[in-house]
Amino acid sequence: MSARVTRRLWFGTLPAAPLSALDLTRAGAEYVHPRKVLLWESTRKEFREALEGGALKAMVIPAGSTEQHNEHLAMIHDTASVTLVAQQAALLLYPQVMVATPVSVGISPHWMDRKGTLSLRRETFLAVVFDISESLKTHGVKTILILNGHGGNDKPLREAAPEFRRKLGINIQAANYWDAYTPGIIKKYMESNKAPAHAAEFETSFALAAFPERIHWEGVDYAKAKPRLGIKDPASAQQDEQFHHEAKLAAAWKGEAMIRIAVEWTAGRLRQMIGQG
Ligand SMILES: [Zn+2]
Repeated sequence: MSARVTRRLWFGTLPAAPLSALDLTRAGAEYVHPRKVLLWESTRKEFREALEGGALKAMVIPAGSTEQHNEHLAMIHDTASVTLVAQQAALLLYPQVMVATPVSVGISPHWMDRKGTLSLRRETFLAVVFDISESLKTHGVKTILILNGHGGNDKPLREAAPEFRRKLGINIQAANYWDAYTPGIIKKYMESNKAPAHAAEFETSFALAAFPERIHWEGVDYAKAKPRLGIKDPASAQQDEQFHHEAKLAAAWKGEAMIRIAVEWTAGRLRQMIGQG
């Protein structure tokens, strides 16, 4: 049986090509079906037994967004990317970690002048994350990593984490998966020297490596679209155009390297949280 991790995402299975950077054989682990670490793909029997048997020690709540990602990248990118990192990290630590259903709309008022963006108010978003955490606590989960994949969620989650800990009395921490990227790593892999940025070289590279079917360059003509974009802030409009050009620097190998670094960093963070760090 193949020992490779297949790229199964939160809404189904991708084409068979493995993510070459992630090969469980190097950890000496046996093949694990990728759904096994996903709460929403598990039965109550499976989840109950994982909890009661003491194997399951921590959960990850991926926090993403549904928002414009320039002209070429699907709006679900932040949710899909952070969920992928969470899932791959959980597979490395199987059976100690599972991933809760991602929060797929985030705090994105800064992109509302670009069509398609959905945004939750800060208090709504934090209430959803808190209620999911409380649900997990009710079932007996004592360690939770809220793993974020969208810039607008970052500060609110970091600010709220101590309050969540106080109210629930369990170990809850918040981190962005891109906290893994030191300036040296960014310089090494990103020609634009930027990560995460937005729908530019990094995120497009991630998508090329993990889910290329979410990239749609066909028919994209930025110059033609520009007068119709309606971006109010001139600095933001300029950045939007710059990110569009930087996205063309993307390459699958860059995405693979960055994904692997994020997955290993996240697994390390989880190991620390469950007391093996
Ligand atoms: Zn993004």
